[in-house]
Amino acid sequence: MYNSYLLGALGGLGLITILFLAFSYLGQRPGPKHKPVTQDDIEADFILDTIEDGVVLVSADGIIHLFNPAAAKITGWPPDEAVKLNFKAVLPLVDEKGQPLPEASHPFMQALSTGKSAHDSNAMLVTKNSRKVPVSIIVSPVMGPAGQPNGSVVGVLRDIAKDKEEEAQRSDFISTASHEMRTPLAAIEGYLALALNPKTAQINDSARNYLEKASNSTKHLGELFRDLLTSSKAEDGRLISYPAVVEIGEIIEQVAEAAKFPAQAKGLQLKYSVSADTSTNSGKTVRPLYYAYADVNRIREVFQNLVDNAIKYTNEGEVLVRLAGDSSVIQIQIQDSGVGIPPEDIPHLFQKFYRVDNSSTRSIGGTGLGLFICKKITELYNGRIWVESEFGKGSTFFINLPRLNAEQALQIQRQQASTISPMDRPI
Ligand code: ADP
Repeated sequence: MYNSYLLGALGGLGLITILFLAFSYLGQRPGPKHKPVTQDDIEADFILDTIEDGVVLVSADGIIHLFNPAAAKITGWPPDEAVKLNFKAVLPLVDEKGQPLPEASHPFMQALSTGKSAHDSNAMLVTKNSRKVPVSIIVSPVMGPAGQPNGSVVGVLRDIAKDKEEEAQRSDFISTASHEMRTPLAAIEGYLALALNPKTAQINDSARNYLEKASNSTKHLGELFRDLLTSSKAEDGRLISYPAVVEIGEIIEQVAEAAKFPAQAKGLQLKYSVSADTSTNSGKTVRPLYYAYADVNRIREVFQNLVDNAIKYTNEGEVLVRLAGDSSVIQIQIQDSGVGIPPEDIPHLFQKFYRVDNSSTRSIGGTGLGLFICKKITELYNGRIWVESEFGKGSTFFINLPRLNAEQALQIQRQQASTISPMDRPI
């Protein structure tokens, strides 16, 4: 979705064309290198005046030099007022909670300081009249004749309020539909279980065979509805999360322990290891405590999903679950000796509904939503998830989460305890 907004912002008129137009415009400016106005310049002016995307050209010192009418329409700033002002005054961005975006995260700032393209489609632009408009922004460095960045950047803005609204409606529909369909599905599952139970029903072998297939498909449908509901909530920030101080070692150990049985059933070995701290005082090896701030059920769902996948996409060998960390990061690794992932699929893996389609995966059922949900949940707790894989040899999924030290953990626990009303407190 993120990409679709960005691609949308580039729709119709490519970024290259916009860069070319910005160049042409620069060529027309009076100055030492003034050159006669050509037909191309007039066309460039005409296109910049008519396109629906806002185009803003900013020089190395942050000053705006070009501000087309679409940029004026989106921001509320007339071009003659915006030009010569700093982009920070004309294009202030805030996050979804209305908090100003840190200066270094502003895509114009990023492109100016790194000389590389930067984009954002999550922030909101504060207009001249203090209205907040969801926008997609792509900023690219302007190249000099030798192909080197010349210090200026050009940004393309698009008002994506309508896209966001339509997406919210779509996501609302998916949530309601999947929620409503879960109730009759639970009834079907219940009756199928009764029909398959010899204590409650007498059926012959072929009927049992049909009903078992129906029961498996119903379970799959149930998983699909559950994942659809979770992913649509994750997408529009409605995922229920009750973060608290959690000890990641304990959760991952439980998940690894529970996964031993399905792994063994497939003839796989499942091993779990934690990097140990050696206490210098006692000479004893103690398991370090990896505290994080997250909802225990959500984070367990992530580990569960990755371990389930490791077993699902591995036919022989082993699954290794590792926990390690340093003073600020906790790292969870789930490594398998399975089918692996072709390099061309890796960049798309965490997208919604993306499934690798090849002879090793085609017969394995799934929804293509698990990794998307894992990514959303990990990001909810300021973490990062990624994969390294060799096709045909195996994959390792990594999760990094911010680590709390024991003192921070205790402080948060105290704060939370003091905010719980006496009526809610367990006795
Ligand atoms: P699914 O329900 O299809 O498993 P996921 O979102 O969990 O959905 O995974 C997306 C795709 O990523 C899978 O269809 C599979 O092709 C690939 N994949 C996920 N985990 C692994 C793994 N451990 N080894 C190989 N491929 C994997």
